[in-house]
Formats: sequence, structure tokens, C-alpha cells
Amino acid sequence: ITVPKIVILGAGYGGIMTAIKLQKELGYNEANVTLVNKHDYHYMTTHLHMPAAGTGNADQARVSITRLIDEFKIDFVKSTVVQIKANERKIILEDGSLSFDYLVVALGGEAETFGIPGLQQHSLRIRSINSVRFIREHIRYQFARYKLEPERSDYLTFVVGGAGFTGIEFAGELADRIPKLCKQFDVDPKLVKLVLIEAGPTALPGFAPELADYAMKVLAHKGVTFKIGTAIRECRADGVVLADGETVKSATVIWTGGIRGNRLVEQAGFETVRGRVKVDAFLRAQEKEHVYVVGDCSLVTGPQDKPYPPTAQLAIQQGAACAFNLVAAIRGEAPREFKFSGKGVVASLGKGEAIGIVLGKTYKGGKAAVMKKLIDLRYLYAIGGIPLVLRKMRL
Ligand code: FAD
Ligand code: NAD
Repeated sequence: ITVPKIVILGAGYGGIMTAIKLQKELGYNEANVTLVNKHDYHYMTTHLHMPAAGTGNADQARVSITRLIDEFKIDFVKSTVVQIKANERKIILEDGSLSFDYLVVALGGEAETFGIPGLQQHSLRIRSINSVRFIREHIRYQFARYKLEPERSDYLTFVVGGAGFTGIEFAGELADRIPKLCKQFDVDPKLVKLVLIEAGPTALPGFAPELADYAMKVLAHKGVTFKIGTAIRECRADGVVLADGETVKSATVIWTGGIRGNRLVEQAGFETVRGRVKVDAFLRAQEKEHVYVVGDCSLVTGPQDKPYPPTAQLAIQQGAACAFNLVAAIRGEAPREFKFSGKGVVASLGKGEAIGIVLGKTYKGGKAAVMKKLIDLRYLYAIGGIPLVLRKMRL
């Protein structure tokens, strides 16, 4: 007998959750499941602002995929996807190909640069373990360079472009790290500038104004300079040009101005909006009912047809729902409509400080920071149980 082949592309939040739920639900020989990922580890993007700034260890943000899946039930393939041929039911990898009956696209997002000149070439992005290791080393290197070329104040100016949650969380961590780097490299802290630039009328536009104000106050107190209501218009090797004509000279530009879906999804011919596939109520691509799309490369709308922001919380819930619908499809049962149940948002502002809205209630300061830790632990428990929680706590 032939059993259906399920291929999952990407082992981020959406992909790993689909795989974990499938291995629980599927009976022996009901399907062949293959999980493909670029790296042999799953990384938690929601931690990446810490290793990027150097306040956390990159190993804390990742876990080996084979520790999370049961290799008797799921084949793991470490490879990079180069093309999705949805109609031909074929995936082209850098070193081979795979065929499928059902596909789950969970390849995540990438930075949206909005065609701003120079941004792609001259900015750094918080996207993966490799990219944050680079950012961390790059920042340290600027301190070392400055000591040999003290006339180059641009080495000690750090620009963060975009004060959404990623920009705010990263700036909070970097502000905590700078005093330590100053000590290590014998640099006067007064010489270091950390500039957070936001096009909107406030940091965290669209979020609760009271919490956005609180976040700005906490960060300003730690030494962050805000430039609000000014968009980055151009990025150069020596800094950024703003919409009002001002230039900020800097050897480091971290772009946190937004994300889009993975380009492979667009290239595969799906109908997309900024690289995100508008899925049906069962998380399937339009007119391709054998293809499910979850996480940052999917677009799910909520009340008033407004798209939900791409978050780990959404990707995790989609992963579970996608696994349920795959099992139903294989068994010839009815699929279930996906309903997002948003629990809220908690964002860190550096050590011991955070803001958040959880189940409609507002939190700030230490309480919110504890809540952030609990959310992280809850996720570790969901994917790896108590052993993973204990291992990560020790790191
Ligand atoms: P990802 O988690 O990005 O996973 C995609 C996977 O696909 C990765 O493993 C990648 O290696 C793999 N991959 C990509 N391309 C290929 C390829 N060509 N071949 C093979 N494999 C490939 N959301 C929240 O809800 N709460 C938070 O607190 C939060 N904090 C955040 C903090 C930061 C600093 C950032 C940047 C984001 C944060 N987010 C948060 C957003 C959240 O991280 C994303 O929405 C989430 O990661 C999306 O999950 P995903 O499964 O779609 O993609
Ligand atoms: P975002 O799109 O939410 O924010 C980008 C910010 O950059 C916006 O405020 C935007 O106005 C600004 N911007 C855009 N172009 C600009 C320009 N040219 N110059 C200056 N500013 C510019 O992106 P993000 O912060 O990376 O978040 C991506 C997703 O991940 C969101 O859905 C977010 O909710 C989620 N996330 C959640 C958390 C959390 O819950 N703790 C943390 C990080 C990210």
C-alpha cells in the first residue's frame, strides 16, 4: 500500500508545531512525514534580540531538531529549499528533490526593505542565529576599531531603524550591553550613541499609547535617543539619510522596519501580498487544497477582514490547526476552520523591564518581564516538555 507523503518546509514555530502535532496524532503507517529545514536546529526568533545585542547566548535561542521530533515517525532533512513546484507536487532542494501529496509551507519571513536605496546592502537584520552572531561581533568590533581611530565617532553610533516591537526589544538590550562594552574597551560611555528612528508619530505605532510612552521613557532613561516621525530614506555605508534631509553618520545600521513573507513563496506563483499567501479558512492556499501555509508567509484575516500581525503566537496556533486538518484530510474527515485566539502581547525592554497586554489587562515593569519569561518557558514546555525547560534554564 502507498501512504500519503506530507512534506513540511521550515522548522520554525509553525513548522515544528505542525510536525510535533502530526507525530502525536498520526497512527503507524498513516502517512510519511518529512520535515525540511536549512539548519539542524530550531531557533526561537522571539529570543534573538538578546544574542544580537550580546546580552544573551545564541545557544539559548536554539534547540536541535532531532531532540524535538521522533525520528521513527518523521524524517528530518537538513537542506535549503530552492524552489516550490506546487502544481507538480515537487520541492527542489539545494542537493536533491522531494515529491509530496500534501505540503506545509512554513518558511517564515524576511526583512521588508520597501525598496529603500542601500538598505539591503548596508544594514544588518535580526533574522537567524547566524545573523545575530554577526551583529553581536560587528558591534564589539566597532568598539575595538574606535580605540585605534578615535576620530571616528561614527563607529560608536548605532542606528536602529524602525521602532516596532523588534526595534524596541533590540534597543532595550543594546542599551543594557553598551556600559559593559564601554568598560571592556575603555570607552567613555558619553561618546556612544544609540539612535532609534521611527517613521510613525510614536514608537510602537498602533499599540496602546500608555505602554508605548512607558517604553520610550524606559529606553530614553537607558540612553536611547529617539527620532520619531522621520523615516529612513536611504542607507549608505557611512550611515542613514532621513526624510527631513538630516544624515546620521554610523557604521552600524540595524534594520527593524518590518517583515514580509519568504520570497520563495512568491516565486512559486502563489497569490501573495508582500510575500504572504492569503489562505482559506482551513489554512490552504487558494485553488491548491493540498498546500497549507502557516506562519509569517501566510496571511490570515480577523474581524473586519484585517490581517493578523505575523507573530509566533499565530504561527504556533496555525501549526496545530494545520496538523489537525492534515490528519482529517488523510482520513477523509471534515477539516476544522482556523480561529486565532490572541492572548495578547508582551515585549521586553531589557533586563527586568517589559510592557504587555495579556487577556485584556495591561502590565509594565517587572511584572511584565516575569510574564515574558513565563511565555518563553511555556513554549519550551509545549515543544520539549520539562527536560527542555530544565536544560534551557541552566544555559
Ligand atoms: P520562523 O520561525 O522564522 O521559521 C522559519 C524556518 O524556516 C526557520 O527555521 C528557517 O531556518 C527555515 N527556512 C527559511 N528559509 C528556508 C529555506 N529556503 N530552506 C529551508 N529552511 C528554510 N512573535 C510573538 O508572537 N511574540 C514575541 O515575543 C515575538 N518576538 C520577536 C522578537 C524578534 C526579535 C523577532 C525578529 C520576531 C519576534 N516575533 C514574536 C515574531 C515571530 O518570531 C515570528 O512571527 C515567527 O518566528 C514566525 O514563525 P514561522 O514559523 O512563520 O517562521
Ligand atoms: P513592524 O512592522 O511591526 O514594525 C516596523 C516599524 O518600523 C514600524 O513602526 C514602522 O513604522 C517602522 N518603519 C517602517 N519603515 C520605516 C522607515 N523607512 N524609517 C523608519 N521607520 C520605519 O516590524 P517588527 O517590529 O519587526 O515586528 C514584526 C512582527 O513580529 C510583528 O507582527 C510584531 O508584532 C512581531 N513581534 C512581536 C514581538 C513581541 O510580541 N514581543 C517582538 C518582535 C516582533
